[in-house]
Amino acid sequence: MRWLCDEMLGRLCRLLRAAGHDAALAGGGTADRGLLTRARAEGRVLLTRDRELSRIAGADGFFVVGETVEEQARALRAAFGVDWLLAPFTRCLMDNVPVRPVGMDDIAAMPDAARGLSGPFHHCPACGRLYWPGSHVRRMRALLERLARGEP
Ligand SMILES: [Zn+2]
Repeated sequence: MRWLCDEMLGRLCRLLRAAGHDAALAGGGTADRGLLTRARAEGRVLLTRDRELSRIAGADGFFVVGETVEEQARALRAAFGVDWLLAPFTRCLMDNVPVRPVGMDDIAAMPDAARGLSGPFHHCPACGRLYWPGSHVRRMRALLERLARGEP
């Protein structure tokens, strides 16, 4: 499944990307009708915190319950069986583009602390951002593993 998150669901969107899902994030101020048109055109399920919008969207939308990203992630697993360990850290968290293994030049440009890790190292071909398995990635992976096991 592919997703379109409304602007209230930025953290959930990044978590979906971290798990390897194709998740677009609506730009701020996009009108409801624009969101729904885009979701239908791109074959995405519209995830929203707006009950009225989810009602209008019908089967093309989903009202995401929960205030925290963990609660929202559990709601998606319950409703759609979302696999939170689909393909962890294979997409750029910022723009949803699949990341690629980095070359030696990219590794040379990383901070010392990152170069000391065993990898894998990736970069985003769209924004150039570098990814390495530092503490932030490890914390996110631990969260994905908890979600995949269905733990609270
Ligand atoms: Zn990127």
